[in-house]
Amino acid sequence: MNRYAIINKKDELSNDIANKLKTELNQFMIYDEHNPELVISVGGDGTMLHSVHHYQYIIDDVCFVGIHTGTLGFLTDYQKEEYMELVNDIKNGKYNIYHRCLLDVKTNKGSFFALNEMRIVNVHRSQVLDVFINESDFETFRGCGMCVSTASGSTALNKSIGGAVVYSEAGIIQLSEIAGIHHNAYRSLGSSLILDKSHSIRFESNNFKGSVLGIDHLSYSLDDVEYIEVKLSQHSVRFVQFKKITLIGRLKRSFLDV
Ligand code: NAD
Repeated sequence: MNRYAIINKKDELSNDIANKLKTELNQFMIYDEHNPELVISVGGDGTMLHSVHHYQYIIDDVCFVGIHTGTLGFLTDYQKEEYMELVNDIKNGKYNIYHRCLLDVKTNKGSFFALNEMRIVNVHRSQVLDVFINESDFETFRGCGMCVSTASGSTALNKSIGGAVVYSEAGIIQLSEIAGIHHNAYRSLGSSLILDKSHSIRFESNNFKGSVLGIDHLSYSLDDVEYIEVKLSQHSVRFVQFKKITLIGRLKRSFLDV
């Protein structure tokens, strides 16, 4: 890898690490903001999400690695004091590439991709949604909303709403409810549903007014939208792995160690 770029969070620590990285890497690589082969994200998981969306126009040709300066580093492999270790690992050139799946999200108003999840959220009133799986009528949901996450997004919002944590390279989509209403009159599955790449999920409503479509760190109004379709994308995000961090190690480091 010869060409690199850095996207960093705009705080003093992340700026400082980004500048130090540039000084070191410019000795054997070229800084190429528009067409990098390697993108280094310096910040938190939000910065990594931002980096991946920023380079979506070359998503099949670029790799990502992260240095963690934020509050939680689930998508980042290096701690802030390990930036020289990253420089040496890049110089030595021994790495594996692993893939994180993306979601393909389509509405009658536009298309999006998501690394963590897509979520439909209405904070004003109960959102009624007809859910179709592979075009078959599955259920009518009522509640705050629904979330479809990838395996790598399973530790993000999906986890907070009771979804399962899934091995990050698994090619699955997970449908979870956000505060579903369940009683004699209204019934929906209630538990999370994990599906493979042969499935697509379609949400329909004759009234999305007030609902928001969340795509990772981004959000869009659903006011004029009639349907939303989600499936696994044919594209994925390539992450460079210089050092082996297992899912169990990440879970322990991020959620259990105090
Ligand atoms: P943010 O600043 O609100 O961060 C939310 C938290 O989610 C941060 O702690 C972040 O590190 C963490 N996070 C993001 N991706 C993760 C992942 N793959 N695994 C584990 N943790 C992860 O928002 P942001 O930084 O712009 O990130 C957007 C993400 O925030 C969304 O994709 C969504 O998953 C998450 N989010 C979580 C909740 C919740 O847990 N209640 C609510 C809204 C959004």
